[in-house]
Amino acid sequence: MIVRARAVVTMNGAPVENGAVVVSGDRIVDVGKFSEVSACYSGEEIIDLGEQVLLPGLINAHCHLDYTCLRGKIAPQKSFTDWICAINAAKSKLSPQDYITSINEGFIEAKRHGTTTIANLTAFPELIRQLAPASIRTWWFAELIDMRSPDRANQLVDGAVELLESERNYGLAPHALFTASKNLYHRCEEAAENLLLTTHLAESREEMEMFRDASGPLYEFLERIGRDMGDCGGRTPLERFLRIRESSNRRFPGTENEDAWLLAHLNELAESDFVLLEKMNAKFHVAHSPRSHHYFGHTRFPFERLCAIGFNVCLGTDSLASNKSLSLFAEMRAFQRNEQISPEKIFEMATVKAALALRQQNALGRVRPGFRADLIAIPCAESRDLFAEIVAFEDDIGWMMVDGKTVEPSSPCK
Ligand SMILES: [Zn+2]
Repeated sequence: MIVRARAVVTMNGAPVENGAVVVSGDRIVDVGKFSEVSACYSGEEIIDLGEQVLLPGLINAHCHLDYTCLRGKIAPQKSFTDWICAINAAKSKLSPQDYITSINEGFIEAKRHGTTTIANLTAFPELIRQLAPASIRTWWFAELIDMRSPDRANQLVDGAVELLESERNYGLAPHALFTASKNLYHRCEEAAENLLLTTHLAESREEMEMFRDASGPLYEFLERIGRDMGDCGGRTPLERFLRIRESSNRRFPGTENEDAWLLAHLNELAESDFVLLEKMNAKFHVAHSPRSHHYFGHTRFPFERLCAIGFNVCLGTDSLASNKSLSLFAEMRAFQRNEQISPEKIFEMATVKAALALRQQNALGRVRPGFRADLIAIPCAESRDLFAEIVAFEDDIGWMMVDGKTVEPSSPCK
């Protein structure tokens, strides 16, 4: 099959005007000028997308579809701790069926906004089998919390792996330093060599206060509900995370310094943290969620400094308990408002860089022979800068392909 468009943005060299992509099975086999491609592959079915630009599908590096139904339900709170209490109260009213509906609707919304791959943390891996099959590529991360029962870490990890191992792509997500024990982090690292790992780290000022100063609203709240606070005082969240990891220091197999962890947030870093990070060989992947960041009013995200250290920063939407939609286009625009960065570099954060964070740099995020045929198309005008136009796109997607199959972007999951 040949897919023709007015332009193809490959993220693998300059965009191709009047371009075409040849798809066979689930893969891209060729990319080039339509005139050349159609001569080479005569007789192939042609899908002509007309005056549209063809792009690699977007990759959401951090979200929680569990909470799609909480959109607009939790107003911004005075503190991060108040928000945790508010979401816990909202969650206590939800049934397993509510979560199933929430996740199914999340998939539909993500798809409508051009997302073809999603890294989704779920607190309920046992519900996955009851969901409508998602027609987008999903990394399921079991979100794990053992705050009140750290002796159960092994059991928790084994149970999650058992529930997820039949999925095509999965990983583990000890929730955060303030809810997951050291043992749980270690067990997640030991669970499997190739498993992706993600966690929330250094998200809020209150998390910094808790670990560094053994005080503040988060400290008091968690102490009140019975968490052992013995790990608080003296170390920043990042320092504590690095200490936990010292004993295992897991890398991706076959790589020298690429770290296995995709860290969500990293907003709150002390100067001493940057000194530590600069000394480290390991390079983390970081998921930044600009609109959720704005909702919470976190400290300015240290984008340039993290990039200068060599970290791979990509974009995620986070959940609708702290965001308005699951649109990565809106996320790119929100990022653009805060940073001096070209639209092309922003688009990389939702494609190439997010693919790298999921260890899919040779399969996703670009339109390139041998890569998965995950493609989207948006209308384009004649005169404007192509990447500026992409980042400015606000409508629903009109056409998409996942794994070489065209998918109706606005229909329910099939
Ligand atoms: Zn999150």
